[in-house]
Amino acid sequence: MKIETKCLHEGYKPGNGEPRALPIYQSTTYTYDSTEHIGKLFDLTAEGHMYSRISNPTVAAVEEKIAALEGGVGALCTTSGQAASLISLLNIMKSGDHFISASTIYGGTINLFAVTLKKLGVECTFVDADASEEEIQKEFRPNTKAVFGETIANPALAVLDIEKFARIAHANGVPLIIDNTFATPILCRPIEYGADIVIHSTTKYMDGHAIQVGGVIVDSGKFDWTNGKFPEFTEPDQSYHGVTYTKDFGAAAYIVKARVQLMRDFGTYPSANAAFLLNLGLETLAVRMEKHCRNAEKVARYLNQCEDIEFVNYPILEGNKYHELQKKYLPLGCSGVISFSIKGGREKAITFMDSLKLASNVVHVADIRTCVLHPASATHRQLTDEQLLAAGITPGMIRLSVGLENVDDIIEDLDQALAAAKAI
Ligand SMILES: *Cc1c(COP(=O)(O)O)cnc(C)c1O
Repeated sequence: MKIETKCLHEGYKPGNGEPRALPIYQSTTYTYDSTEHIGKLFDLTAEGHMYSRISNPTVAAVEEKIAALEGGVGALCTTSGQAASLISLLNIMKSGDHFISASTIYGGTINLFAVTLKKLGVECTFVDADASEEEIQKEFRPNTKAVFGETIANPALAVLDIEKFARIAHANGVPLIIDNTFATPILCRPIEYGADIVIHSTTKYMDGHAIQVGGVIVDSGKFDWTNGKFPEFTEPDQSYHGVTYTKDFGAAAYIVKARVQLMRDFGTYPSANAAFLLNLGLETLAVRMEKHCRNAEKVARYLNQCEDIEFVNYPILEGNKYHELQKKYLPLGCSGVISFSIKGGREKAITFMDSLKLASNVVHVADIRTCVLHPASATHRQLTDEQLLAAGITPGMIRLSVGLENVDDIIEDLDQALAAAKAI
């Protein structure tokens, strides 16, 4: 199946006389005929759902679909993108461990890595993703356990050289975790370039309609957890009757461990109803991404020729720092997200934002409706000026998420708001 077909048909394949649409199994639990069978479920020697904090048939169908879209062996849905980032890392790290992350990443993720994980004893070193392999290599320590980056950085719109990051990670015997939220598997499938784990905030394009927060972790099944650095995978898990993940689950060791150990303990599993809604979004993901890309390209070209604009970040534009990486990793387009800066800085940016009539001023991105955000006063408000710059953000920068409206209406709105900003 091609990817558009997978969006519609993976995960749920109804049998004779069964519902055409994915059913919502709104149940916390599942009945079995014998205690022996339930015992086997607990031992993980029989397959089946046991309790909806760990798995549920509706959520499982969506997990299977997303795994198929990304080309992974399995997936685990979470209640938010933040929960996906957290679990993806804690599944391989404990207090005393260290990991490396590109500095151009989502503001909430920076906070999680720099503050909250640090409190738990897990340390992160942020690196300039555009630095040479030699420079990044210098940041590795004996206790480094993972490398992290975003395909298209939110909101800097830097494109990550995934193959370079995979090479560095693998040379050090650690996995590469990629946050593929903005690209979605329609525009880029990081596993094809060497990523080992892919995560998403499904809140963004996957859901697409701004109706629910969610996340997902996808396991490529390709990383060798038996290389000596990850004893939690190769030694019996006493909290799970001595299961040894690599031995008992082979290529799916990582994702099974994340589910039966961390999801069991943290309990950030979505409801069946949430998964049903996410599935509706996924069914149209391919068509939506194509239109988001087409609209955004036109808007970026319009902004690029406006004289009141200081710069436009959209890797499709010729001369953009990431244009070559875009051609390699995102040949179909760069999503609907553009960032740009208005001449005159913060004040003009805020007047522009407040003058928009069609585009909504929201703390959201990657929606079917055009929306804008001023990162320095919203998502990245907690960051210091230094962290702002490292994340690729200037005080006058606006993040524009181009929706599916007629592009002429979007441009007309931007045009009148730019005129209003010019007037002050
Ligand atoms: C929004 C976002 C997150 C966090 O996801 P939530 O669903 O809001 O928890 C993580 N990474 C990226 C790239 C995001 O845009």
